[in-house]
Amino acid sequence: MVKGRIHSIETFGTVDGPGIRYIVFTQGCPLRCRYCHNRDTWDPNLGKETTAEEIIEDALKYKTFFDSSGGGITISGGEATSQPEFIEDVFRLAKENNLHTCLDTNGIVDIQKIMGVLKYMDLILLDIKHMNPEKSRWLTGVSSEKAIKLAKDLDKLDIPVWIRHVLIPGISDDRENLIKLAELIKSLSNVQKFEFLPYHTMGKQKWLDLGKEYTLEDVPDATDEDVAKAKSIFSEVGVYI
Ligand code: SF4
Repeated sequence: MVKGRIHSIETFGTVDGPGIRYIVFTQGCPLRCRYCHNRDTWDPNLGKETTAEEIIEDALKYKTFFDSSGGGITISGGEATSQPEFIEDVFRLAKENNLHTCLDTNGIVDIQKIMGVLKYMDLILLDIKHMNPEKSRWLTGVSSEKAIKLAKDLDKLDIPVWIRHVLIPGISDDRENLIKLAELIKSLSNVQKFEFLPYHTMGKQKWLDLGKEYTLEDVPDATDEDVAKAKSIFSEVGVYI
């Protein structure tokens, strides 16, 4: 069985998918988001080596909590799709044990690379960081085109998704970006939920601890008012959150 590298486990997660969830944070991410709150997940050589069997054996200890809350197992990161064979094993074993499965991804992946994984997916959490390819490149190191394509491909495959967008004042909350994002969501029939994740500076300390420069130093946290404004722009396109 393929071994994977993980950063950490959270046994009672409540924000990355429905119900109470066992969250596996994998090690390694090809993106370079300026606001990354898991800066210590980037290096694929760090973390702890483990197998899908070990993970599922541990997750099953909490199955009653998952079953009573509509929860299950989520693999997040870092970027989980950087280890496609490993996460396929975890999700296959999860389904064999009747666990609800959820993949949290930045979407910067070719769908062919994860077709084996998609067979076992109940839900995908897809982060769309910026609709503008250039601004996405500035913010994350890569263009958003692949994530947008993945959203459309998952729609064709009829795999349910929650789309999430980190709302960063002055960076990803501009009208043009939000209108394009709302139009994308409106064009898809598999979006069960959309969430704005208000930007906060809580991850900054990890950057400083690692001796790295935090380049969004002057950007304030997103406020309730910022989120309300973004929702109002969405409603102009007919997307109500
Ligand atoms: S995709 Fe996630 S883990 Fe990777 S750099 Fe961006 S915020 Fe960090």
